[in-house]
Amino acid sequence: MTPVGSSSQWIERDAAVVWHGFTQMATFESNAPLIVERAEGRELIDVNGRHYLDAISSLWVTTLGHRVPELDDAIIQQLARGAHSTLLGNGNTIVIELSEALARVVPVDAPHFLYASDGASAVEQALKIAFQYWVNRGESGHTTFLAFGGAYHGDTIGALSLGDDGFGADVFAPLRFPVLRAPAFDAPDCFDTAIRMIDAHAHEIAAVVIEPSVQAAAGMQLADPDGLARLGAACTANGTLLMCDEIATGFGRTGTLFACEQAGIRPDLMCLGKGLTAGYLPMSVTVASGPVFDAFLGDDLGARTLYHGHSYGGNALAAAVALRHLELIEAWDVLANVRERSDELAGLLHDRIASKPAVRDVRLRGLMGGVELAPPSDGLRWGRKVSAASVERGVLLRPIGDTVVLMPPLTITSPELHQIVHTLAESIDEVCEAGGNGA
Ligand SMILES: *Cc1c(COP(=O)(O)O)cnc(C)c1O
Repeated sequence: MTPVGSSSQWIERDAAVVWHGFTQMATFESNAPLIVERAEGRELIDVNGRHYLDAISSLWVTTLGHRVPELDDAIIQQLARGAHSTLLGNGNTIVIELSEALARVVPVDAPHFLYASDGASAVEQALKIAFQYWVNRGESGHTTFLAFGGAYHGDTIGALSLGDDGFGADVFAPLRFPVLRAPAFDAPDCFDTAIRMIDAHAHEIAAVVIEPSVQAAAGMQLADPDGLARLGAACTANGTLLMCDEIATGFGRTGTLFACEQAGIRPDLMCLGKGLTAGYLPMSVTVASGPVFDAFLGDDLGARTLYHGHSYGGNALAAAVALRHLELIEAWDVLANVRERSDELAGLLHDRIASKPAVRDVRLRGLMGGVELAPPSDGLRWGRKVSAASVERGVLLRPIGDTVVLMPPLTITSPELHQIVHTLAESIDEVCEAGGNGA
């Protein structure tokens, strides 16, 4: 159906009834929001019929593109068998099949899968599992977590507590529980300090929580793989649970199926979300290792049970598309494309972007990229203006502060990468080199 009405009418109707996340609604209408009418391949198409290259993968979730016939078909076939049945106390064949397929590829020993819908919920589940694990083992005092500077684990209160200040978390300070805070990834002694903290506090830590390889929401901060490997070894040596949040990095984003693989670490708990269903449906999962799972075994209705579960956990439609997604990643050799395009993108950013005076730093791992701008003073909103200039040119970008995020679908092509970098270069020139204030 062709939408009736101009984009301004849709924006007005939107603002009258919709509340957008991470968005100041008083200025929503004046920030030229895109109202999507449909999506196709790696493009979004707005109510005026304009096409935009989805260079942020619909906030980091889309992996193979939009309207992939095989993925559409997986949902249609499952629909004929039922959209949803509860996983509380009962099972569903498609969820069993998905879990078996995930068990073959996740870097977790003897894995068990507890499903939820959003990434933050997978993190909350992992927090509660880590905490109760120690209670169930009769080892008291493991009541805190060690998390990193710059961390982001989602927006629910537990996840906000693990996350660092900023991202709008500060206002909730009275509600956030305290954690042990290791330095940020860009501190030279980040992992040495974290390891010393683990050695000193192992008796009170329920779990060490980390975004392996890349802190995405921190503006693509990269971890040193050797430091990560040593962190994993320190957890093992101290008998401390390691919880890896691969919600952003999972399913091929960094060039391997999971980022943990590059550091050779095998977490006790792992959180997956975002790309799990290729960006089609909300589904997340907490993966627990065999030893963690076993600590919850006991009497029926007994105290060792994990009393936690979400209504839509293990939704059958989501499971069907997640399973087909895993098959396609392999069949299409998607990881090879991620690695080739990542190398190509590194070259393009080096040639066209990194040397600009307005650019402070360029960070890239796999197809997770950040171009950090260097505004001469605060309040110039360069990140937002450069992104807006790119959207004007048909490439959908969205910044985190003054870092412009490049997070294209994993099936991105070489010409599309050229289009993204060319557009970004033009946008930076337009905004940042027009007298410094981009006005
Ligand atoms: C996006 C994200 C989350 C939160 O996931 P939601 O689905 O938005 O709740 C948690 N951790 C990381 C690393 C993320 O990137």
